[in-house]
Amino acid sequence: MQTILPHPSDAHHYEADICIIWCFDDRFSPLLGELVARQGWQHVDLIKVAGGAKGLAGQPGETDRVYLLDQIAKSIKLHKPRAIGLMVHADCGAYGSPKFDTSEKEQEFFANELQKASMTVNHLRAAESSQIAIRKFFANFEGLHEF
Ligand SMILES: [Zn+2]
Repeated sequence: MQTILPHPSDAHHYEADICIIWCFDDRFSPLLGELVARQGWQHVDLIKVAGGAKGLAGQPGETDRVYLLDQIAKSIKLHKPRAIGLMVHADCGAYGSPKFDTSEKEQEFFANELQKASMTVNHLRAAESSQIAIRKFFANFEGLHEF
C-alpha cells in the first residue's frame, strides 16, 4: 500500500444536520455545495444516487426504494440527522430527461414525485417513532426550490 494523499480526518463521531438524497448528476453538485454552505450545515450524510429521491417514489419492495430506505435508516441510527432532504431535478436522466409543455406541469410532476417519496420516508419515521423533518427540494437550472 502506498499513501497517495496524506490528509488528517476528524475521528470524532457526529450528529448530522441532514441526511440528503441527491442525484449524482454533477451539473447540480455546485448547487448542493452552495446549499450546504448557505445552510451552515457542518455534517451531511449524503446519499448521492441517480435520480435522487426518485427511488423512494417507487413501489414497496422495489430495489432502489429498499436500498434508499436502508441508507436513511442507517443515517438515523448512526448520526441522528435533524432532517431528511429529498431532491429531484429538471432534465433528470433517471426520469428519461422528460420534457414538459409548461413549467407548471413540470413543477406539478416533480411535486408529486417528492410527495410520494416523502410518504415512503413517513412510513420509516413512524416505524422508528421519529420526528425528523422532511424537506422536499426541486432543482432546475435557475436554482433550488423547496415545496
Ligand atoms: Zn438526475
